[in-house]
Amino acid sequence: MSHDAFVPSYIVIHTAAYSGRNCDAAKIDQWHKARGWDGIGYHFVILNDRHDNKKDGTLESGRSLSQRGAHTLGLNNRSIGICCVGHGDKEKFTNAQLLTLLDLVHRLMTDYSIPLNSVIGHREVNDLISRNKLAAQYKTSKTCPGRLIDMDFIRSFIKTNDKKQAQQLNQTNDEKDNVSEALRVLASNATLFGNAQDELHQFLNHPEVIERLH
Ligand SMILES: [Zn+2]
Repeated sequence: MSHDAFVPSYIVIHTAAYSGRNCDAAKIDQWHKARGWDGIGYHFVILNDRHDNKKDGTLESGRSLSQRGAHTLGLNNRSIGICCVGHGDKEKFTNAQLLTLLDLVHRLMTDYSIPLNSVIGHREVNDLISRNKLAAQYKTSKTCPGRLIDMDFIRSFIKTNDKKQAQQLNQTNDEKDNVSEALRVLASNATLFGNAQDELHQFLNHPEVIERLH
């Protein structure tokens, strides 16, 4: 045999790190081909609520599960890659995405006998390195699956499989999104504040605020 069989022992969760519309497996396949790769590097893609004709939480297949993926340096020969569409530094997974993810991860853990502590976010390869489970050369500076994605929260709900509570907590934890929304409203009404307009513009043009407005 010229290839070792692909036997996954980890599940790695990613963000597409893309805020645009209509992101799906086909689009990611195009991106990865444009990078000179052998097509989509993830095994699964979970869509969000910004697709014109596919539902929030739709599960799509990427690379075949019989093949190693191309998504996490150092772990591609022993992990399943799941990409959640959207930008994890700017938004949480939608509730529908979260539910699809919980179902999918449950199924894969059973099918491949993968323990919960081997379900990780991409950035957590650094924890594997510190536990001597991965070579130091694979250390990453990525935030993937994103600053707003709490992997302990996700693992806790994979464990309990309490989907109702997972959705409730996912929603009530959204202050950061609320701030973004408030800033957007403020920015769109800036002209209402005649005398304060200069100060308001200065505030709205601060790099930190601009970042939140995107
Ligand atoms: Zn990633």
